[in-house]
Amino acid sequence: MGVAERIEWLRGQLPAAVRLVAVTKQVPVERIREAYDCGLRDFGESRIQEVQQKIPQLTDLQGVSWHLIGSLQRNKARPALEVFDWIHSVDSLPLAERLASLMDSVGRRPRLLLQVKLAADPTKSGWSQAELEAALPRLAALPQLDIRGLTAIAPLGLGEQGNRTLFGQVAALARDLGRRAGEAGWQHIRMEELSMGMSGDYPQAIAAGATMVRLGQVLFGSRLPLRRNGDE
Ligand SMILES: *Cc1c(COP(=O)(O)O)cnc(C)c1O
Repeated sequence: MGVAERIEWLRGQLPAAVRLVAVTKQVPVERIREAYDCGLRDFGESRIQEVQQKIPQLTDLQGVSWHLIGSLQRNKARPALEVFDWIHSVDSLPLAERLASLMDSVGRRPRLLLQVKLAADPTKSGWSQAELEAALPRLAALPQLDIRGLTAIAPLGLGEQGNRTLFGQVAALARDLGRRAGEAGWQHIRMEELSMGMSGDYPQAIAAGATMVRLGQVLFGSRLPLRRNGDE
């Protein structure tokens, strides 16, 4: 199956309201063009350097949104604000404060998602529920930020039921935070977006209310070189 067939097949699987973010890390620009020609407009990258190389080769594509899905170091906050339309990986108060302090001088206001970690995962960062609840008043004091929701990455090996439970907890947390922000009148904190679901777990994420899925390999094929018999 080529990219076009995979996109068509996936469209049949996703509710119309769910935004398909095509994860294009390690994917060459020709394939991004192909995906664009099939109607995709949202592209996710993990590394700022990689997107900085790609964007100049794709300036003729109209209406594209670039999503940062990989972790963001504070010292890369400025270039991230300059190139991305969405940042899915705001995972600490110092990072949020740094982004807020740069917003005016950069002159762009990307939409932000707070990355939570509700299950142990040594390979990922993110707010715990308690940390995020405690940080909420501090985030409320940063009205430069345009916070739209939460991001979650399920750790490997939870299984379908475990994924479903985890994504359900993230959705419940978003509802709770959204209600608190609404009651307090914090207009820059809205909890309408849930970025959750990757190639291996997107059906469970959608069932739990994901509004954005971040899909790479199911669209573009495996990123790892295939190991054939006799290799190594
Ligand atoms: C790579 C990546 C994805 C896409 O993963 P696939 O398994 O290729 O669908 C989604 N989210 C994040 C944060 C990633 O780093």
